[in-house]
Amino acid sequence: MPNLLRKYLSGLSALVFPEICKGCGESLVSGRTALCRKCESEMPRTFFEKVSGNLVEQMFWGRARVEFAFSLFFYRKGELLQQLIHQLKYKRDIRAGTYLGQMTGRVLLKEELAGKFDCIIPVPLHPQKQRLRGYNQSDIIADGISEITKVPVNKESVIRTVHSASQTRRGRYERWQNVEGIFKVVHPHLFHNQHLLILDDVVTTGATIEALCAAFSEVENVRFSVLTIGIAVG
Ligand SMILES: [Zn+2]
Repeated sequence: MPNLLRKYLSGLSALVFPEICKGCGESLVSGRTALCRKCESEMPRTFFEKVSGNLVEQMFWGRARVEFAFSLFFYRKGELLQQLIHQLKYKRDIRAGTYLGQMTGRVLLKEELAGKFDCIIPVPLHPQKQRLRGYNQSDIIADGISEITKVPVNKESVIRTVHSASQTRRGRYERWQNVEGIFKVVHPHLFHNQHLLILDDVVTTGATIEALCAAFSEVENVRFSVLTIGIAVG
């Protein structure tokens, strides 16, 4: 469908079917997407971006040299953030991802962090999984961040070479075994002297991100920071 027509139809459908808040079901005022102001304010923020040595940074102690790391929200089963991420991953709700990314971008600007990074690296999916899903949810979030902060996103230079099975039922050691060597940096020369912001939707043990950092081991003077929307708790 041509872009202009798509825009027109989406404007028209917003008039006929105003978007509703995914939290409370109330109609959203124009200019808002995904959540109303009240539901957004009730999301469980960590404020880890203000805490040196926070829980996410602790995950990487002794495992990867990370300059700083934080998650925006606590992520618990059955809560609103889980629903948003589920819709983004499995229901093609791209707008939920854009919303989460834009919100994250505003936090980076407010905390004056955005200027520290040369680019954002969304954790890649295996190409086969991405074909099935149609997109990588972390790419969508990264684009939302970039739209606000103007930090470029690099989606091409790291590939996931191993299609790992679901990791949710494995222990920490097994998970690490499962992800070691699963990423490959295809354009290492691009990253000399760069500070990369590794982005994922939810961090559980940090093993995937640790493996991603390890894939850069041949790159001179590359630095990492880590940002995820959620940190899985409870
Ligand atoms: Zn609401």
